[in-house]
Amino acid sequence: MNQVHHSSRLEISRSAIQQNLKFLNRVIRKNVLISSVVKGNAYGHGIEDYIPLAEEAGYEHFSVFSAEEAYRVTQVSYKKGPIMIMGFLDDDAIDWAISHDIEFYIFNLDRMNRTLSIAKKRKKVAKIHLEVETGMNRTGVNVPDLDPYLELIKANPAHLHFAGLCTHFAGAESITNYYRIKQQQKQFEKAQNKVSLYGLSPERNHVACSAAALRYPKSQLDMVRLGIIQYGFFPTNEVLIEYLAKRKVSNNPLKRLISWKSRVMDVKDVKTGEFIGYGTSYLAGHPMKIAIVPIGYGQGFSRSLSNQGRVLIRGQRVPVIGTVNMNMLTIDITRLGGVELGDEVVLIGKQGDLEISVASFGELSDQLNYELLTRLPMDIPRLIVD
Ligand SMILES: *Cc1c(COP(=O)(O)O)cnc(C)c1O
Repeated sequence: MNQVHHSSRLEISRSAIQQNLKFLNRVIRKNVLISSVVKGNAYGHGIEDYIPLAEEAGYEHFSVFSAEEAYRVTQVSYKKGPIMIMGFLDDDAIDWAISHDIEFYIFNLDRMNRTLSIAKKRKKVAKIHLEVETGMNRTGVNVPDLDPYLELIKANPAHLHFAGLCTHFAGAESITNYYRIKQQQKQFEKAQNKVSLYGLSPERNHVACSAAALRYPKSQLDMVRLGIIQYGFFPTNEVLIEYLAKRKVSNNPLKRLISWKSRVMDVKDVKTGEFIGYGTSYLAGHPMKIAIVPIGYGQGFSRSLSNQGRVLIRGQRVPVIGTVNMNMLTIDITRLGGVELGDEVVLIGKQGDLEISVASFGELSDQLNYELLTRLPMDIPRLIVD
């Protein structure tokens, strides 16, 4: 964690986590459990740094993609609350998950049978979430194929705990998908009916991600799986605008947790007519002053931001010029006076009155919030700030 050796740092705001959870507690119905989705290294925020803060703020349930992520959560969680794996799990990991009371999705018979036999062998109860295919066509069991799973659950109460019945929507963040989401909800209800025909009732039904929880409040059921929103981002601008319009409010109620900062590594003058950086994409049309910043696509600053991106320095917004390199980028500081080596450069976040949002990256580089965040490398030091 020695920051001297790193070319940038990520700051994570503790108060923003609390503010966002307060907002979520207003929009998520009482008695609906919020599962904090921390896949993708907590959407780039860093599992090890984020989990303790999230627990301190009040989150009690975590969802991850893989056993590797679940393991990392167990290493830093002090409340030792439930953890749910929504995706990848190989055979060894099934054994580990069952032994450690980690909940996980079941979406094929292979995993179902292995789970049952390992639970028997270990004399343990596996906590399973049966995932239903409702129209996304990713993982999940088709409604007509649920019978063998339900029979096994019914016949093995000592080894299978029916922790959840769940599905995932194929794009609740866009109104374009409205009809498809409605069809998925109907399919899920069919699955629920089938489950009750077996006299079974899962501990929790859960279908909603951030966008669904906001746009389709009825989808909140017993639990919601919230990712992007807890980090202070609406899934898309569409969801934000709809929320503001519905509630007749004008300010974004969420606060971004993350800021990304680096420093000036070098400063120099360039003569009129010279090209800057690789190739010929930027020609100095007048005498220029430039600064080199030790951040590149290798650190998650997309190359498509070449001649497009902006950063903050000395309280001003300045453009990235030339191509973004693997480990460096160049900015135009011609109109700024007195830039010095070591001056702070803000890639995401605030400086003075100005702010670079994650969304602005998206517009320029055609990346989703989700993509930019999860590409932030694990080894950039995270610093907790208020
Ligand atoms: C990522 C994910 C979520 C959370 O999605 P957000 O849009 O970030 O809220 C919920 N459920 C599943 C299955 C996921 O993979």
